[in-house]
Amino acid sequence: MSAVYLVTGGSRGIGAAVARLAGATGADVCVNFVSNRDAADQVVSDVVAAGGKAIACQGDMAVEADVVRVFDACEEAFGKVTVLVNNAGILDQEGRLEDFSADRIAKIIDLNVTGALLCAREATRRMSTANGGDGGSIVNISSMAATLGGGAVYLDYAVSKGAIDTLTTGLSREVAREGIRVNGIRPGIIETEIHASGGNPTRAADLADTVPMGRPGTAEEVAEAVLWLASDKASYVTGTTINVSGGR
Ligand code: NAP
Repeated sequence: MSAVYLVTGGSRGIGAAVARLAGATGADVCVNFVSNRDAADQVVSDVVAAGGKAIACQGDMAVEADVVRVFDACEEAFGKVTVLVNNAGILDQEGRLEDFSADRIAKIIDLNVTGALLCAREATRRMSTANGGDGGSIVNISSMAATLGGGAVYLDYAVSKGAIDTLTTGLSREVAREGIRVNGIRPGIIETEIHASGGNPTRAADLADTVPMGRPGTAEEVAEAVLWLASDKASYVTGTTINVSGGR
């Protein structure tokens, strides 16, 4: 039986790399996006071209009804989700906490924390053997910002990723006997469009020298770690968060 991946924010960046790699390994993939249908369709085409099956599924992962609808659509297309990659996440312009508006902070927390909790809840409801499910795996995408703190740039974002690390620890213990493994990844500085969305498109290259390995990472390098954690090769791994950060 194929794995069924739901990748939130699967249309671009790290999520897209995860979706492509999962498809290439024979998984069925639900590629969630919020507004960029063309990018999601491209990821679906890439998976299909590699011989896999995928659908694009619009939904704002900060909105409960959308989260439920996306899980339902994935289930309808491929059967029960076996892997949730809790990846959709945003940041905002670089700055200091004293300048952040309540709206800005709420927007980040709504998606990065509440949305991730809702996606994990939905996965748990459907995967847990205690609820008649078949088990599964959840991989939460955190950030090195959770440990470095994001001070003077994205403190609100870093706080949201600290919450993701707590989600990984707490939920892994909650469902460890119900067939669900819950792990996380802390990417370092990865070449994606998220830096442009924070107003600094050259950020990854600019910070290369701050990385012990001397370069930013690629979305594909993060995807490899996600796929391993999600796979049966990591069958005794739960509650762990792996840094994929070039030593940062
Ligand atoms: P990205 O290139 O900006 O892509 C963001 C993805 O999230 C897109 O697919 C986007 O969909 C989707 N998205 C945004 N808002 C959404 C919403 N409300 N509901 C559903 N999907 C939504 O970002 P990335 O760099 O790949 O980041 C992915 C994850 O890795 C995030 O959680 C981020 O915090 C984390 N991370 C990234 C880095 C890095 O250096 N890149 C480092 C550490 C952690 P559309 O295409 O429809 O807009």
